[in-house]
Amino acid sequence: MVKPNENLMEVKNLKKYFPLRGGFLSRAAGEIRAVDGVSFSIRPMETLGLVGESGSGKTTVARAILRLSSITEGQVLFEGRDIFKLGREDLRKLRRRLQVIFQDPHASLNPRMSVEDIVGEAIVIHHLARGPEKKEKIVTLLEIVGLSAHYLGRYPHEFSGGERQRIGIARALAVDPRLIVCDEPVSALDVSIQAQVINLLKDLQRRFGLSYLFIAHDLSVVRHIAHRVAVMYLGKIVELATRDRLYTSPQHPYTEALFSAVPIPDPTVKQKRIVLRGEMPSPVNPPSGCYFHPRCPYAEPICRQKSPEREDLGGQHWVACHLRKRAGHKINSNKGGRNQ
Ligand code: SF4
Repeated sequence: MVKPNENLMEVKNLKKYFPLRGGFLSRAAGEIRAVDGVSFSIRPMETLGLVGESGSGKTTVARAILRLSSITEGQVLFEGRDIFKLGREDLRKLRRRLQVIFQDPHASLNPRMSVEDIVGEAIVIHHLARGPEKKEKIVTLLEIVGLSAHYLGRYPHEFSGGERQRIGIARALAVDPRLIVCDEPVSALDVSIQAQVINLLKDLQRRFGLSYLFIAHDLSVVRHIAHRVAVMYLGKIVELATRDRLYTSPQHPYTEALFSAVPIPDPTVKQKRIVLRGEMPSPVNPPSGCYFHPRCPYAEPICRQKSPEREDLGGQHWVACHLRKRAGHKINSNKGGRNQ
């Protein structure tokens, strides 16, 4: 049992490389560095946001920590135990404690199963209840996520996108998890529905003591739910901080550029959009030194030669950038927003 001040999950130097095959005999022709040395922790009742452009490696991290894929190197500790060293029975128990909510509720719900079967499936697999007790539990779960018991016999196509996501949440809750990986859970929904689902997730966190890894590319959504936020670029975390600190004083040039595109709800704050040049390079052949240097407006010769180490700035904030090493340099320290 994890105490409130201990980490529920700890990810240490996680790497996931995919072999690249080519040629007549499909020989190994290189590797895709999808995740390249990622470390973070998640505490009880905490939401860690994981943000970055498409292709930055967020979903590969999610698949690894759910043990849906193997890893190349590193460790994933859940409640103090390495999940890649668990035997079959312990792995089955882990599946209960670690759940997932997917981006597209339409694709993640079996169209041939009724709501009762979808939500009840894991209850049966984990032998949590049977007969009337199981049905009662399913009805309770539906009510918790804001759906009526009348929906038990209906099928996914009969629901709206928001309702389908609520069914997905009820399915995840059915086995009393501790940590839920939310992989872009609201990006397929309308803005008004997004707010409802975010509020529901926050309520459930308070009520059941849940932790979330919340993966998203929409930074305004992450702002509403995350306690801390990690920023990924080309398979690496480049900055991690508490939400308020990251949104008001980002220290990595990539974070600064990402956040410059987020609207600030204050008409008195002038916002200057930073447009990055070029596209994210391929993880098959990443740039030398700092992976961000071909796009970075502040790049210096050292950035092409040496990968920046992670620097602890205090206050649960760290960044990996050579610029920070220069005494007194701060990319941004505005209190109320960027580029005022
Ligand atoms: Fe830019 Fe250099 Fe910092 Fe990389 S290390 S983000 S290239 S300033």
